[in-house]
Amino acid sequence: MKIGVLKETKTGEKRVALSPDVIKQLIKKEFSVAVEQGAGTGSNFSDEDYKEAGAVVGSIQDVFASDVLLKVNLFSKEEVAQMQNGSACMSIMYAYNYPEILDEMNKKSIMSFSMDAVPRISRAQKMDCLSSQANLAGYKSVILGANYLEKIFPLMMTASGTITPAKVLIFGAGVAGLQAVATAKRLGAVVEVSDVRPETKEQVESLGGRFLTVEGADEVKVEGGYASEVSAEFLQKQKELIQSKIKDSDLVITTALVMGKKSPILVTEEMVKSMKKGAVIVDMAVESGGNCEISEKDQIVQKYGVTIIGESNLPSLLSTNASQLYATNISTLLLHLATKDGFNLDREEEITKGVLITYEGQVVHEFTNKILN
Ligand code: NAD
Repeated sequence: MKIGVLKETKTGEKRVALSPDVIKQLIKKEFSVAVEQGAGTGSNFSDEDYKEAGAVVGSIQDVFASDVLLKVNLFSKEEVAQMQNGSACMSIMYAYNYPEILDEMNKKSIMSFSMDAVPRISRAQKMDCLSSQANLAGYKSVILGANYLEKIFPLMMTASGTITPAKVLIFGAGVAGLQAVATAKRLGAVVEVSDVRPETKEQVESLGGRFLTVEGADEVKVEGGYASEVSAEFLQKQKELIQSKIKDSDLVITTALVMGKKSPILVTEEMVKSMKKGAVIVDMAVESGGNCEISEKDQIVQKYGVTIIGESNLPSLLSTNASQLYATNISTLLLHLATKDGFNLDREEEITKGVLITYEGQVVHEFTNKILN
């Protein structure tokens, strides 16, 4: 089976789907790998590194002649047009947002697998790129926020006076949020956290953060590891709690996600107005609409003396590590689905069922169909 790795085309994307180390392991298992020239440059993997690992570094035509194509981001219409009929592809797809790409894939009977659809179950942890990337993004959100803050994080007692620690407020204690808590604590900040899932309280506290409890939180349902939408009443109560906390915060990091839905607005323009001059907000949810009312995708907005960062691709800012982890995720999934002789799908098996989007000219993925129809 021949695996093809394409260079990412999305603006600002520095990651690549496979690292040289992971290619070595695939070659040991008798797969062959073709990598597009320069595909790893943004992650500091040279064509030479790939050749040494055993890959063929070649033209884009050679890569398209593979049995399965791997990328980080979704394939474009132009890329689908170059794929062989009946071939396969794997990437982060967020398929329900791109019905037109799915149509193109179906016209060519492309079998597609989506990395963002890996079920959040223990045996799929090694394939879970949302977790691996969100973990790095949570770290980077704090570093980036700290860089824009004109204050230090830790308590500092000096002969010239005492500097009190920075106050960091984090929304969402999922993968990104918990890593942000850990990173902000390591830098010496005082950290407070709000999440709709009460079970996150213990995790936040174990990292040294303070959990802000919203009344009625035990009513929130969790499906497949994700919080389902919360009631308007809950959001109102949460808003009142936030209003009182946000005024004193130096850095606010928002990571609140409701799977398949627009992100909830947790920080309104009024709240931004009430914040201290010089405060910073990093809105990690900006790609799915944002948790802050006035954040803008891929922009740094200055308003009311507050800096609002809407970087939508934090993992790309840590491309070397992000690609290493993504490569492990995608190759583990590939090895779950295929051998050197080709794909060997058990369509009833939970992980396979979870990730298979298009198959024999149809969208077969339940969640995607539910959103599309
Ligand atoms: P996750 O599902 O692990 O965590 C999201 C958390 O938000 C959950 O704990 C959930 O309970 C909580 N939440 C939902 N509604 C809430 C509300 N109203 N108030 C407070 N908390 C609420 O997700 P994750 O993997 O940690 O990712 C978090 C967010 O960061 C997502 O929006 C994701 O798309 C984004 N992300 C952004 C980047 C970037 O580069 N900007 C990178 C990775 C992830």
